[in-house]
Amino acid sequence: MVWPTRRTCWRGKEVFLRTYNSPDDSETPHFTSVPQVRTEAYMHEALTDCGIDIHWESEVETVDSGPEGVRMETTDGQEWRSSYVVGADGGGSTVRNEIGASFDGDQSANSFIVADVEAVEGDGYPTERLFHYDHPEVGGRNVLLVPFTGGWRLDIQCLPDDDPEELCNDENMREIINTVMGEQYEDNLTWISTYKFLQVKADSFVDEHRRVLLAGEAAHLLAPFGARGMNSGIADADEAASAIAVAIRSHRDAVARDEVELFAARREKAAQYNLDAAGQALEYLQGDDPVTVLRKEAAAALADQFEVAGEYLDDAPYGPHGAPPIVSTGNY
Ligand SMILES: Cc1cc2nc3c(=O)[nH]c(=O)nc-3n(C[C@H](O)[C@H](O)[C@H](O)COP(=O)(O)OP(=O)(O)OC[C@H]3O[C@@H](n4cnc5c(N)ncnc54)[C@H](O)[C@@H]3O)c2cc1C
Repeated sequence: MVWPTRRTCWRGKEVFLRTYNSPDDSETPHFTSVPQVRTEAYMHEALTDCGIDIHWESEVETVDSGPEGVRMETTDGQEWRSSYVVGADGGGSTVRNEIGASFDGDQSANSFIVADVEAVEGDGYPTERLFHYDHPEVGGRNVLLVPFTGGWRLDIQCLPDDDPEELCNDENMREIINTVMGEQYEDNLTWISTYKFLQVKADSFVDEHRRVLLAGEAAHLLAPFGARGMNSGIADADEAASAIAVAIRSHRDAVARDEVELFAARREKAAQYNLDAAGQALEYLQGDDPVTVLRKEAAAALADQFEVAGEYLDDAPYGPHGAPPIVSTGNY
């Protein structure tokens, strides 16, 4: 879904609103929502086009790497041998554990609630991204609303003393959805979950023999502000594939090893940059640093006179826009 409007409210009052023209085919739209099921379908299609087999229901159980390559066992009883392996098996990565790497970092202080609300056909609710600071009718909590095809994603930032499980019971959620979106939506909750963000990075992205490379959430977990999770995972995978291609063609052990080490150096640095950027956004939202608090208050007070003050409030929750210093794969 492409949507045209960004809007921000501060304690019940609108402080920023901007609507962009609908892009024609030659332009990149300002805002696009692509659900994960769709990105997965695109990737599945790409693998099929390349003639790559997928072995479902066969989880990697063991990974033994050595100077000549890698041997793995999967839960379906098969054994696999390969020159190189990319471990892209997510946050609970078996591959990461098997190569002896471990996660290092912090967990967010507050919990978050994430909920899907089904669209009401033809009700005219605006397709906009709305961020509401300290929503007065949601107990002063921050609320984010993002449109998706067929519905809305509602994020609520819990207060430090909240019990998130209690807050997301049926009655409370009906009331919150009614307040934020209107009565016609209060029965349309289709999915809900609560979580805290981890901000962590593996202490090494490669094994000791430089034969196993970690990519995506197997290598790092980021707070989602700034949308760097999947995006940086794709950059990891791209660089891992390039490094392996060069290593295989090099026919020299030292060159092959260097290439894999270069992958690790570049992507560990990029992950640190992405962690810091997501951390900055998290600190902005959750932290009690008096300078940040004062800056937000001042921007809200000035937003009526100066659009730039409202734009700051609209933009800041998503962290800085910059790219890591060492990247060859776009912005992440
Ligand atoms: C609320 C929310 C919003 C987000 N929004 C954005 C966004 O806007 N933009 C963005 O870029 N990112 C976003 N992210 C982050 C993004 O979803 C993740 O970073 C991304 O999906 C991670 O991809 P991955 O392939 O590394 O891991 P996963 O998606 O976890 O995939 C790992 C795969 O490995 C498989 N697996 C696990 N163990 C094994 C095993 N032992 N053997 C074989 N296979 C195994 C799993 O079944 C799974 O299919 C968001 C995350 C959340 C929670």
